[in-house]
Parts: sequence; C-alpha cells; structure tokens
Amino acid sequence: MTDKLYYIDGYLRETEATVVSVTEKGIILNRTVFYPEGGGQPGDRGWFGTFHIIDTQKDEDGNPLHIIKGDKPSVGEKAVLRLDWDHRFFYMKEHSAQHLVSALLFSKHGIGTVAVHQGEDFFTVETDKDDIPEEVLLCTEDEANEAIRENHGIEQREMSHEEAEALGMRRSIKMEGNVKVVFIKDLDAVACGGVHLHSTGEIGELQYYGSERIRGHVRTMWKCSDLSVAYRRENRAIVNAACSCLSSEPVSVLSSIERILDENSLLKRKLKNAEEKIAGLELEAHKGTAGAVVFGTSVPVSSFEDVLSSLGERNAFIIDADGRFMFHGTGDLFNDLKTGLAAYSLRGGGREWFYRGSVKGPVNSVLEEAQRLLNG
Ligand SMILES: [Zn+2]
Repeated sequence: MTDKLYYIDGYLRETEATVVSVTEKGIILNRTVFYPEGGGQPGDRGWFGTFHIIDTQKDEDGNPLHIIKGDKPSVGEKAVLRLDWDHRFFYMKEHSAQHLVSALLFSKHGIGTVAVHQGEDFFTVETDKDDIPEEVLLCTEDEANEAIRENHGIEQREMSHEEAEALGMRRSIKMEGNVKVVFIKDLDAVACGGVHLHSTGEIGELQYYGSERIRGHVRTMWKCSDLSVAYRRENRAIVNAACSCLSSEPVSVLSSIERILDENSLLKRKLKNAEEKIAGLELEAHKGTAGAVVFGTSVPVSSFEDVLSSLGERNAFIIDADGRFMFHGTGDLFNDLKTGLAAYSLRGGGREWFYRGSVKGPVNSVLEEAQRLLNG
C-alpha cells in the first residue's frame, strides 16, 4: 500500500520515494504526494527525478498510479517526487471553492449537489433541481465572496464512519470504514478524500459563470481565483472595444447594437429587393437570345428564384460569381448536365424545372460548356 501523504497534508509539494512496482502505464511508489483523479478533481502532474509524470490515476488496489511519458524508472529506484505545484494548487482552489458553493446552495437555498467537476476553465456543480432562478445563483455568488473575505478556516479530520454519520452532513457518505471529513469552519462538513486549501481566503474570488440543463438538472458553472479575475478583465476589454467601435458609452452599448441590427435587417431587405429587380431585368435581357438562356449573373443566383418560372418551358442555366447556379429544365436534362459538368464537381438537386447547386472552377468555362450541352 502506498503511503498517501496528500491525504493528510495537501500542501506537501515533494518527497523522496522509491519505485515498488512498474506497470505498462506507470509506476507505484512506496509513498506519494500525488493525488489520483477522483471526486471531480483531476490527477496530479509533476516529476519523479527526471521522469515526467503526466497524470495520476488509481490502480485496481486504490494506489496512486503515476502515469509516465516515455521511459520508466525500475523497481527499487529512488528519487525526489515533485508536484507541478501550479497545476495542483489551482485544483485545490477549485475543489475548496466547489465545497463552499455546494455548502451555501444547500444551507441558504435548500439546493443539493449531485455531481461535481473541476475543469481547466471553470468548475461545475450539478444540482438536484430542474430550475433555479438566476437571482439565487447570483446571491450564492455574493455569499461565497463574503465567506472568502471572512477567511473561514478549512480543516480535515479522519474519523470513524459512525462519528462522521453523527455530524448530519449535507451529503451521505459513499465510502466504507474510516472517512476524512473536510470542514469549512461554521459553514460546512462533508466526507471527501480530496486535497483542500487551509482557508477560504486563498480562493481569492468567485464568479457565477452560467448554467445549463443536464439529465433534467440545473448544472451551474463557476470561475474562481485567477480565472475569475481573467474573466472579469476579458469582459471589460470586450465592453471597452465595443464602446470604441460604436463610439458609445458602456450604458448605451446595447441600444447602439440593437439600432445597428435593426438598420442592418432593413438594408438587407432593401438589398434583396434590388437584387431581385436586377435578376428580373437580366433575365428579360437574355430572353431574346436563341436556344437555352445561359448567362453569368452579377447578383446572387438565389435572386432568380421567383422569376425563373416566367421562362415557361424554356431551358435556362444561370450562374453567379461564387459558382452557385440555378437550372430551369427537366430532371433528364439536369442529369445530362450533371454528367457533362462532372469535371467542375457539379453538386445540386431540386425538382422538375427547378434545380440549384454549385460548381468549382472558372465560371466562363462552365458557361461555355453549359451552352454547348444545352444547345447541342
Ligand atoms: Zn470534495
């Protein structure tokens, strides 16, 4: 059994250790400060001497398996085992922040936690509710930041199952035998094998990031510490950039955007009408030519949608500068066209007398070929 030093002291960054077994994936040591993935917290990374540990998982006996990239040390080899402390400390902050959020959701708002995950960009708390008003989550954000400012101590104590049960914790105990209980002074007690901070103050700050529905539950997302600071700054930079683009004050940015969107949809409607008019005129101008009507258009070919039927039973092939075409003709003729223009990767489909699609290649060459195919 590996001596799990992280279980007692989450702040131990290194220890001397000896390899007791080597598997295909990694190594088992006589003692370790590396936390194996569990309880929503990722496994630790770091080094054993010069060997790079990229992850830590539990083996079938529950011992931390240090996953090593490349060559592995041999059984009996002794070296200093050293954590990637930035990586670990970040997840300690997320884990303690998650306990704090779960504790406050439960004690202040009667919302239970069913699953948690600590991620690179944010951590999640999946709740037992199918709907939570945003005010409740913003209120929880305030309460958590207050608890961070109050700097509540975080302690962990190992105790018997019975002793832990008697604490009446917010979540039932999942493991057998002795359990480690993590306390946030005056706020929370919960059985957890993870690694935690010494006090809530170390979280720095916490921000509600959003929520989504999953498995019929509301899953809430949170950013803490440096990620929260970065998110605030990123949002401020976005607002500042928007203000400068729109020559607007922050308070009127939204109404400026709404005005621009309204203007934009009006202009789009006007442009579409103008393009449809041009399409009608272009078609009219080409109707006088003999045989099939084949030409390249100056407007998007979709503008011809409503005017094509004016051709009656006359064949037409119209293509725009992006290689999109409309074809007015029978299905048999469209199949001939498909075969004849296969060299231009013709793709498309539709119904009798109305086909659309696209081709790749110079529009002029496609037009010449279409002219030849349709006029024989
Ligand atoms: Zn935990």
